[in-house]
Amino acid sequence: MRGRPRAAATASAAAVFDALDRQHPDAWTELAFRNAYELLVATMLSAQSSDARVNQVTPALFARYPDARALAQATQEELEPQIQSTGFFRTKSRSLIGMARALVERHNGDVPATMDALVELPGVGRKTANVVLGHALGVPGLPVDRHVLRVANRIGLVRSDDPVDVEAALSGQLPPERWIRASDAMILHGRRICRPAAPLCDRCQVRFLCAYYRNLGAKNTARPAARVRARTARVARRGPRR
Ligand code: SF4
Repeated sequence: MRGRPRAAATASAAAVFDALDRQHPDAWTELAFRNAYELLVATMLSAQSSDARVNQVTPALFARYPDARALAQATQEELEPQIQSTGFFRTKSRSLIGMARALVERHNGDVPATMDALVELPGVGRKTANVVLGHALGVPGLPVDRHVLRVANRIGLVRSDDPVDVEAALSGQLPPERWIRASDAMILHGRRICRPAAPLCDRCQVRFLCAYYRNLGAKNTARPAARVRARTARVARRGPRR
C-alpha cells in the first residue's frame, strides 16, 4: 500500500479528530517524564517495548543519570543491565550514550527544539523527534507510529504506509496546535479500539466517518445480493427447487 498519500474523499479530518477527542479525552503520551531530556531517553527506550515497561525502568535510570552530562559519562557495561528489560539493550545503550554525548558537544547538554537538530542525534528519528517536540518543547509535531499508520489508513484519511508521507498528509489536514493530540488520540485508539487483528468497530466513535467500517457494511449487504443473483441464475438453468 505504498504511494502518494491522499486525503479521504468523505471524512473531514477535523470531524474525525473531534470524535477521537471525545473517545479519548485523556490522550497524551503514556511515558513518564519531567523534561525534554527524560522524554527523549524514554522515547528511545520505548522502541520495540511498551510504555509501561519503560516507565518501570526510567525512575532508577534518571536518578542515576539526571541529565545529558551524566549519561554522557556512562559506559555501555554500566547502562546495559539497567535497560535490559526494554529489549535491544545493546543497541539502545549505544544510542543513548551517543545521543547524550552529542547533546553535550553540540547543544551544551540541552535538547534542541528543532526537527533538524534532533534527527542529527544518534538513534533519533522523526517519530522520536516529534514526540519530544510536541510533548516537552511546545513545538508542533505529529509522531507517526504503527498505530497511527493503521488507524489513519483504515479511516481513509491517508492511503500510504510511509510514515513521512503520512505525517505530511495528516499535518496538512489539521492546524499545528492539533497535531500532537491527534497523534496521541490515534495511538490510544489503535491500542484500545482499532486493534490490528480485530478492531472493535461497534465501540468506535469514528465508525460513521470510517472507510473500513463503510466497507464492512457494503460487504454485509453485498452477500444477500450475491446470493439472490446466484439463485436467480440457478433457477434459470435448472428450474425452481421443490
Ligand atoms: S470503525 Fe473500526 S476500523 Fe474504523 S476507526 Fe473505528 S475501530 Fe477502526
